[in-house]
Amino acid sequence: MHMENKRAFTIKTKPRIAIVSLTSCEGCQFALLDLGKKFFDLINQVEMLDFRLIEDEEDLGLKLDLVLVEGNPVTKENVKLLKIVRKRSKILAALGNCAAMGGVPEIKNYKGIENTVKHVYKYVQGINNPEIKEIDNFVKVDFVFPGCPITGEEFLKYMPELLAGRIPQIPDTPVCVECKAAGNRCLLLDKKPCFGPMILGGCQAVCPSARMGCQGCRGLRPKGNVQAMQQALKTMITDEEFENTTEIYGLRDDIEARKK
Ligand code: SF4
Ligand code: SF4
Ligand code: SF4
Repeated sequence: MHMENKRAFTIKTKPRIAIVSLTSCEGCQFALLDLGKKFFDLINQVEMLDFRLIEDEEDLGLKLDLVLVEGNPVTKENVKLLKIVRKRSKILAALGNCAAMGGVPEIKNYKGIENTVKHVYKYVQGINNPEIKEIDNFVKVDFVFPGCPITGEEFLKYMPELLAGRIPQIPDTPVCVECKAAGNRCLLLDKKPCFGPMILGGCQAVCPSARMGCQGCRGLRPKGNVQAMQQALKTMITDEEFENTTEIYGLRDDIEARKK
């Protein structure tokens, strides 16, 4: 074998990844930067082709092993970009609640998109005001990093599997497990509403640990029992208040789909 060819076979290439932001507050990307050295140690193991918060090099459109998508596909440009990165990448992962569930912007859908925009703009003619849709309405999503924002430590936990070309499985355990492990007194005992039992754990129960009820930013557990949850909260909040709370992080349409 020719020496140069032999060398070519022994060079281990780094996985190529991109972090792409659609319409968003960029909070999930900042959660990555907030990891500091741990994040930069991780990205030293990859070839980062696009991450606008840390570089402005031109993306040449090469094939990707993994793309992480933050935010909502709101504009035509967002939708086009989303479809392009899907075609380019072996694995596409949603980065956060907006991409996965519509997030806070989805409140607009529930309140009537025309009415909502009138709260912001006096003259609404000519304003592009589409319905908010999760990215899986446009492309196949292989994995979701849940939360608003995502949990940095969870990102570090599952990235090695994704970089190895495997799709991780987040355990179906409720927020309550981490809440109990933190030694918290259950808010429900004090008649304070909390969605913890039906919501996917992994956030270290940050809200109940601060004595705030979980509002479900990580989404429903696969086995989460919505009807039992609503029944349990009936002595604390009305059905309307329950529904309004499910609108904060885009849970409402997932709950409606679950009930069908
Ligand atoms: S999920 Fe939350 S933090 Fe992440 S982009 Fe959306 S609003 Fe921002
Ligand atoms: S406070 Fe909420 S998350 Fe914690 S145990 Fe009670 S219901 Fe579960
Ligand atoms: S406790 Fe609930 S609302 Fe708070 S971060 Fe966790 S999943 Fe999201």
